[in-house]
Amino acid sequence: MAVIDKFLDGDRRSLAKIITHVENRADNYREVLARLYPRTGKTYKIGFTGPPGAGKSSLVDLVANQLLEDGEMVSIIAVDPSSPFTGGALLGDRIRMARLSNHRNVYIRSMATRGSGGGLASATKDICVVLDSFGFDKVLVETVGVGQVELDIVDTADTVVVVLVPESGDTIQAMKAGLMEIADVFCLNKSDREGADRLAAELEMMLDIRRHGSEWHYPVVQTSALKGWGVDKLQEQIAAHQTYLKESGKFEKRRRRQVKREIYQHLQDMLLDEARNRIGGDATVEKIVDEIAEGSSDPYTEAERIFREHFT
Ligand code: GDP
Repeated sequence: MAVIDKFLDGDRRSLAKIITHVENRADNYREVLARLYPRTGKTYKIGFTGPPGAGKSSLVDLVANQLLEDGEMVSIIAVDPSSPFTGGALLGDRIRMARLSNHRNVYIRSMATRGSGGGLASATKDICVVLDSFGFDKVLVETVGVGQVELDIVDTADTVVVVLVPESGDTIQAMKAGLMEIADVFCLNKSDREGADRLAAELEMMLDIRRHGSEWHYPVVQTSALKGWGVDKLQEQIAAHQTYLKESGKFEKRRRRQVKREIYQHLQDMLLDEARNRIGGDATVEKIVDEIAEGSSDPYTEAERIFREHFT
């Protein structure tokens, strides 16, 4: 494909085309990814998550600016699982572009769902493969909100930054949402506001247990994206985590685990597609649902029957 050759020559328009192709799961997208995959492995992925309005995009733009100043090539993927719009540059992307100093070395992409929750996480992962093979040094993945989809998305990052703000109950919410478990670095944004020190103390106390017996120190960094405070410290801690992963051998392990999970995920997708084809599509399953609704069967028996009939 000519577009891949152009892409490999560093052509930006081909980059956008291939991302759209992969995001839309267009024909032979797996082949495209397989061709790019051997060139991957150099990009470092940093995930940012936290409650809506915590200042994630403001922070991500500041961090991106610093990386650009250091001469790195940076990409930002903003994922909003609740938004129905997708594909290409959105208005928000153009506004963000204006905030970033070195346009030549930055690429921004917004992604949203069309109802397929799990699909969004794997599409994000695949787009990281495209960006990695294009030669980006860093990919910053930012997710709006705090649901399971967001957790799945940031879980694919090498370093996860959880952004919290000094509003009451924020730590409790974060714990409930499972954010505490996935965080490598905690960022207390809006530290220009009252209550930031109290939240910092609360977090430090909670992290005592997690730090115990761990080689990584789970840092808490106070920032104000509004005033530009602390972003350098945040960057330092992200870099420290990267160094820690590399030196402890955890980086290798983490990547291996991700690849393994990916193989199973692709297998699962393919098997399900194959199963749908063999049984004659969704309509067949609808009929079975009718039978179950009438009380003449159950989902366990039916799945087993389909499996035996078509796969053994
Ligand atoms: P996101 O939804 O987490 O991406 O949050 P945004 O970056 O869009 O920020 C939400 C709002 O909070 C915006 O109006 C920002 O200007 C504001 N904001 C972001 N960071 C700070 C901060 O450090 N201090 C204060 N006071 N406001 C901030």
